[in-house]
Amino acid sequence: MSHSTGLSRATIAVTAGRPERRRGAPLTAPPVLSSTYVSSGPPRPDEPLYGRNANPTWDELEAALAALEAAATPAVVTSSGMAAIDAALSVVPAGGRVVVPQHAYQLTGALLEDLGRRCGLHVQRVDVADTDAVLAAVRGDGDAADLLWVESPTNPMLEVADLPALVAGAHAVGTAVAVDNTFATPMVQRPLEHGADLVVHSVTKYLAGHSDVVLGAVLTDQADLRDRVVAHRTLHGAIAGPWEAWLALRGLRTLALRVEHSQASAAVLAERLAEHPAVLEVRHPSLPGDPGHERATRLMAGYGSVIGLRPRGGIAAADALVDAVRLWVPATSLGGVESLLERRRRFATESPTVPQDLVRLSVGIEDVEDLWADLEQALETPPEEG
Ligand SMILES: *Cc1c(COP(=O)(O)O)cnc(C)c1O
Repeated sequence: MSHSTGLSRATIAVTAGRPERRRGAPLTAPPVLSSTYVSSGPPRPDEPLYGRNANPTWDELEAALAALEAAATPAVVTSSGMAAIDAALSVVPAGGRVVVPQHAYQLTGALLEDLGRRCGLHVQRVDVADTDAVLAAVRGDGDAADLLWVESPTNPMLEVADLPALVAGAHAVGTAVAVDNTFATPMVQRPLEHGADLVVHSVTKYLAGHSDVVLGAVLTDQADLRDRVVAHRTLHGAIAGPWEAWLALRGLRTLALRVEHSQASAAVLAERLAEHPAVLEVRHPSLPGDPGHERATRLMAGYGSVIGLRPRGGIAAADALVDAVRLWVPATSLGGVESLLERRRRFATESPTVPQDLVRLSVGIEDVEDLWADLEQALETPPEEG
């Protein structure tokens, strides 16, 4: 469907998933809030039937997301990013083996642990930037993994994976590959084009983009995998609300502008932070010295707008920074128009290999000089004694 449009992603974000163009038709489709649909007799495959199976507002968002990720089948939208991850993991059989990055969204790891206890999944954590180590774990002792989970850049350490090499190596031994593309967005990286089998998104973040919706999506080129994911959504019931789907599609229209602006600002801020005397370390793939820089330059159409920052002075300095900002908002989440920051290890579920003093910054679309001035004053505020 979307492979052949030939349009740029910025244009697709504005035009995909629109109602049919005919005289008198609305330009923007209204949300359809019905829980059921008129029908009788044997169900036809093309009728929606009931609100847990289908909804016209999902269809529009699913078409738009598929066009952006260049997927051959419509996306499957879910109630949250976690519901999307859960649905994608349902392709792994009970007792199966999954290889997953050491640094990935913290609840991805927690869900896999839970599935380990309940369904006997074997989970192996790896440094996703170390291609040889990842592929050795995928091959195992002659018993290849069922699924390689990839996140790139990773949350919150911003490691960059060599996606084409990982897909080729995993497929060579029959291992499927799923990619959490939340941080990059389809503006910056389209994993299906690198051969990935499944892509998941926390639509909550950049795609919806306005910090007013929790939603997820799964994408694939393969009809059988899509059927599996849809069956999981219908049976487990983690469906998207039509109102949330409508808000997400509305937010998606400005994705290109938001991503371009916020990642340009992130590169400026990362460079200035790296020079600041109160800063110990900055992680952002735009920095020439960053471990992910070369790979991101080769594989991605941008460097994203999340920054990892370790101020001098340890946890106290990190907490003081978060408390001293006035324009930036101390809050979890990312990818919205507002700039947010938080110390990640405040969560007990965050990986113990993430430094205690790491502050994750999500750069929004405010003026970059205002963002810098606020960070500068906050870095100069001394931590309180105690
Ligand atoms: C937030 C996030 C998720 C979880 O998505 P929710 O919409 O919060 O359920 C998954 N992966 C990444 C990379 C995230 O940042």
